[in-house]
Amino acid sequence: MNFQADYSMTIDGQAASPQATIDVVNPATGQVFAAAPDCSRDQLDAAVAAARKAFKTWRAMPIEDRQALVRKAGDLLIAHAEDLGRLFTKEQGRPVEAAKQEILGAGAWLKAVSQMSPPVHVSEDSDTQYIETRYAPLGVVCAIAPWNFPVTLAMWKVAPALVAGNTMVLKPSPFTPLCTLKIGELFRDVFPPGVFNVVSGGDGLGPWMTSHPGFDKISFTGSTETGKRVMESAAKDLKRVTLELGGNDAAIVMPDVDLDEVAQKIFVGAFFNTAQICVATKRLYVHEDIYDGLRDRLAAIAGAVKVGDGAEQGTVLGPIQNKRQYDRVMNLLDDAKANDLTLIQGGPVPEGGYFVPVTIVDNPPEDSRVVQEEAFGPILPMLKFADIDEVIDRANDSDYGLAGAVWSKDVDQAMAIARRMETGTVWINQNLNLRPDTPFAGRKNSGLGVENGMEGLLEYMAPQAVYVAKG
Ligand code: NAD
Repeated sequence: MNFQADYSMTIDGQAASPQATIDVVNPATGQVFAAAPDCSRDQLDAAVAAARKAFKTWRAMPIEDRQALVRKAGDLLIAHAEDLGRLFTKEQGRPVEAAKQEILGAGAWLKAVSQMSPPVHVSEDSDTQYIETRYAPLGVVCAIAPWNFPVTLAMWKVAPALVAGNTMVLKPSPFTPLCTLKIGELFRDVFPPGVFNVVSGGDGLGPWMTSHPGFDKISFTGSTETGKRVMESAAKDLKRVTLELGGNDAAIVMPDVDLDEVAQKIFVGAFFNTAQICVATKRLYVHEDIYDGLRDRLAAIAGAVKVGDGAEQGTVLGPIQNKRQYDRVMNLLDDAKANDLTLIQGGPVPEGGYFVPVTIVDNPPEDSRVVQEEAFGPILPMLKFADIDEVIDRANDSDYGLAGAVWSKDVDQAMAIARRMETGTVWINQNLNLRPDTPFAGRKNSGLGVENGMEGLLEYMAPQAVYVAKG
């Protein structure tokens, strides 16, 4: 397989050639380096029709056979971690080793979900009747992924959708289409034609998909703004939706922590993937007794981190993934400067690509934009607190409710704080840890529905209650 040229969509198990293309930019250089297919309406119709046709036989296949194919797909990703990882760095920007880890992790995720089966609940088995509830697949799934973890977040949808017995059409972000297109090619040898289709295109394609009458379910990961549009579009024919959206996660650092132990972990939780993580720490609330100590340690780490082209040896943080996001992040930085906020910045960054210096904002007002908005870039506001009740209120005073963290040696107290946080996930003395068997669900504007865990699998299924009279 040639990983440098030729990117084709996968429709009905075949390569679908484009009538037009979209440019793909390497964010470390700002230069176009590849072209991806721009799906036409006819091609989208063909993909949906192929998925509809394949649904009949795929759903009838024993679940063990579907699971075996999803497992095989996982093995194939793992086998291609090196080549896909290199391509990932070029299109997404993340340094090579971490890029490879995303492919390996996505392969492992497919394999883990392939072990899951929906339950059958028996609510009565008496002399007079037998009642069971089982779960049936929904039909054809429209899966839409973002650019920050393009492979992982796509596979979070592929694995449960296919195990459950649905067929699907997957669309990557126009900013990071290439690895997903290559995965479509690889999986042509795994799944029967029509089961797994991949299309790519520009800004028009997402709305075409969400309004397409041939889909039964939309699984979307992206911004809150777009998520609301997706839901509006789905309402017309009442498509089922799962929305995983933005976050503005708070971490609370209690005064009993060992600063040398936690500083590096907190830094990674805030800045890994150049802070382009939905569940990154985006507001860091630090007890006033240890505030200066933690700030100085984080500043030292920021000063030592190499920001650059992910393809270069030693790079820890790559560029912002695309120009649109880069402009948003720079706008937030300009706003912070215009309001005379105190910025602590890491070393200089290369020119040419979409690079932003690692930035810590030293105790800005709570109502400043860097605190209130999801930066989705390397700008971390550090805020002082003195009182637990007050800091929990500040942490919860957000339109988002995705995840959060508590750092403390007193785990009982940290658990008590966690229970009061209005988020779908809370970490205690750790960060960014998500598992295929554990539900991930945003509250408030962070989403609707669940991914992962049994709850996530059942989002791709509908319960069917069967009542059998006896005697
Ligand atoms: P985005 O909303 O701009 O795009 C996401 C996807 O939706 C892309 O594939 C895009 O092409 C498509 N799209 C755009 N407009 C559409 C429309 N009208 N209808 C249908 N599809 C459309 O988001 P992004 O900038 O790619 O991703 C960053 C955002 O995603 C951040 O807010 C981040 O917090 C969030 N995110 C959330 C999670 C989570 O699991 N909760 C994970 C990663 C990222």
